[in-house]
Amino acid sequence: MSDIAHNIEFIKTKLPTGVKLIAVSKTKPDDLILEAYRAGHRVFGENKVQELVSKYESLPKDIEWHMIGHLQSNKVKFIAPFISLIHAVDSFKLLQIINDEAQKNNRTINCLLQLKIAREESKFGLSFDEAFKLVAGAGELKHIKIVGLMGMATFTDNELLVREEFKKLSLFFLQLKSEFFRDKPYFSEISMGMSDDYQIAVEEGSTMVRIGSSIFGKRIYN
Ligand SMILES: *Cc1c(COP(=O)(O)O)cnc(C)c1O
Repeated sequence: MSDIAHNIEFIKTKLPTGVKLIAVSKTKPDDLILEAYRAGHRVFGENKVQELVSKYESLPKDIEWHMIGHLQSNKVKFIAPFISLIHAVDSFKLLQIINDEAQKNNRTINCLLQLKIAREESKFGLSFDEAFKLVAGAGELKHIKIVGLMGMATFTDNELLVREEFKKLSLFFLQLKSEFFRDKPYFSEISMGMSDDYQIAVEEGSTMVRIGSSIFGKRIYN
C-alpha cells in the first residue's frame, strides 16, 4: 500500500461513520492525487480556481471536487459546470453570482457559508449576524442550496480554544437550522477540522473534515 493510501485508511479509522473526508490536494501534482484515487478515494478539495480547473480537466471525471478556499466572484464561471460543493461563501453577492452561473449550467450548486470563528483577525468569513441576514434573504435563489456551514479554528496549540470555536459553530448551525431549515433535511453539513484539529472537530459535531498534509505530506510553496 502506498503512503497516501495508508494515510487515508488511517484517518478513516478515526472518523465516525457519516463524516466525510475531503482530501485537500492543493499544490500537489496529479500523480499523487491518482495514488489516492487508485486507493478508492473520490473527494478532493482545492483552494485556487485555476489549479482546480486544470486538475478537473486532467483527472478522472468521477472525482467529486470541492472548492474550499476564498472564491472571487469573477471566477465562479470557471467552476460552475462541475463543482460539487463550495465551502467558503462569505457574501450575498457571491451567492447571487453562484446562483446565476449555476442557472446558466442548468444546475443547482451546493454551498456552505463560511463563518468567522477564530480569534485571530482573518480576512474572510461572515459574523453570525451577517450569516443570519444572508440566509434570511437567500430564499429567492433557486439554483443554489445552502447545505451547511464551514469554519476554521484559530491556529494554536490551545486545544480548549479550538474546541470552544468548533462548539460555537455547531451551536450556530443548530440555531440556523431551527430558524430557517426546520423542514429542509439537506441543511446538514458542518465542514470543520484540518490535519491538526480534526479529531476535536469531529467530537464537536463536524460532518466533513478537510485534510491535506496528513494525507499528502507537507506542502512546499515557491
Ligand atoms: C489547506 C487547507 C486545508 C488543509 O490543511 P491541512 O492542515 O494541510 O490539513 C483545510 N481547509 C482549508 C480551507 C485549507 O485552505
